[in-house]
Amino acid sequence: MSYVLDHLQKNIWRGRFDSFPEDVAIHGISARLGGASTGKYDSLNLGLHVQDDADRVWENRRRFLAAIGLNAQQLVTPEQVHGIHVARVGKDESGRGAKEYGDCIPQTDALITNEPGLPLLLCFADCTPILFVDTEKRAVGIAHAGWKGTVGRIAQATVLRMEQEFDTDPTDLLVGIGPAIGPCCYEVGENVAAKFAAAFPGHEQEIIHEQDGKPHVDLWQANMQALLDAGVPRANIDRADTCTACQHKWYFSYRADGGRTGRLGAVIALR
Ligand SMILES: [Zn+2]
Repeated sequence: MSYVLDHLQKNIWRGRFDSFPEDVAIHGISARLGGASTGKYDSLNLGLHVQDDADRVWENRRRFLAAIGLNAQQLVTPEQVHGIHVARVGKDESGRGAKEYGDCIPQTDALITNEPGLPLLLCFADCTPILFVDTEKRAVGIAHAGWKGTVGRIAQATVLRMEQEFDTDPTDLLVGIGPAIGPCCYEVGENVAAKFAAAFPGHEQEIIHEQDGKPHVDLWQANMQALLDAGVPRANIDRADTCTACQHKWYFSYRADGGRTGRLGAVIALR
């Protein structure tokens, strides 16, 4: 199991989990290279809500989805409000939020579907992308876990919703935890550290580390714990273990880029 960064074409790169079967799902995590945006958004910004030029964002979305074999016109994307609501989407939602942020799925931070060919897109700059494939019931999902979503256990909520909607057995789920700000760079205040300690009792040692006297949180580990608690076997969880702040020449990073920046996209579609 590993996370691989492939060069597709014209400086468009695709991060992928090699544990995900290509015959069940198409997925990819974008790097920041090869896009049409400029300045702070240089260059493959996939986020429509960050004051970048909307036509350039659309061109970037079109380029990235075409490069991985998907149609950007059909993509579905949510508002992303650092909540824990999971929405099931299907044919009727095809294209929601593709070109206009105001048209996206409101108040939602995770999407699931069993509709073939429907691309689910979520956007990130340091928050954790979590991708799901149910190889048996043939369904996919994707979640956005910043610190609030991680503490709220959105990873676990997504598994539960897939169980309810698709009769998913967590032991059939393959899950990938994508690039996000790592424990090396994710310094938090004492109040945030306390919320992680309360949300993951018995796992404080693995999730919260002291560095130069300041608490640092491991979002990858916390989300993995939520998945284990949901019944996903450790062997089914792939991790990029890639820090977006350390690797900010490759990935957009809210912290390393000083706040105003673009968004990488994580996309998954059932084949
Ligand atoms: Zn780092």
